[in-house]
Amino acid sequence: MATALCPGSFDPVTLGHIDIIERSARHFERVIVAVIRNPQKTQSLFTLEERQEMLAEALAHLGNVEIAFFKGLLVEFARDNGADAIVKGLRAVSDFDYELQMAQMNQRLTGIDTFFLSTSPLYSFLSSSLVREVARFGGDVSGMVPGHVNQRLLARFTGGGGEDS
Ligand code: ADP
Repeated sequence: MATALCPGSFDPVTLGHIDIIERSARHFERVIVAVIRNPQKTQSLFTLEERQEMLAEALAHLGNVEIAFFKGLLVEFARDNGADAIVKGLRAVSDFDYELQMAQMNQRLTGIDTFFLSTSPLYSFLSSSLVREVARFGGDVSGMVPGHVNQRLLARFTGGGGEDS
């Protein structure tokens, strides 16, 4: 097994994502963190470039991790980039149905396998959408996201210039 793909929207990256990526980087020679350019997610808080900057800073200590963008079918991106496997984090039973279906569809499309890592219990309640919601209303999300991401959230919601109502 050489290359793994960790896909997501990372809007923004949380300590839960970082935990999954760090653990993937221990098991695979190369990890590509693939940021989805999703046209359906019109209400994203951070731009793709901002998300990439936050990921790059958060993952700078991992020498075998790179960041890329993709749109369209993940399995085609995987094939084009020489990825052997997809790695997803599983938080709770609520993730399971959809992730299982997606993994089976991807397997059917190109034969690629998906590996699931169980989330650390420290982060099983964490999602980017909840972090955005809590931060938007002034809640403290330090300890759930890297310090520099927390700074960006504070700047976005308290420092003016917010693009998201
Ligand atoms: P979110 O659901 O937080 O918006 P993404 O869509 O960016 O996150 O998800 C990317 C991947 O990261 C998915 O495989 C998801 O299961 C995983 N993930 C997200 N949050 C966590 C967490 N707290 N612990 C483990 N895995 C997570």
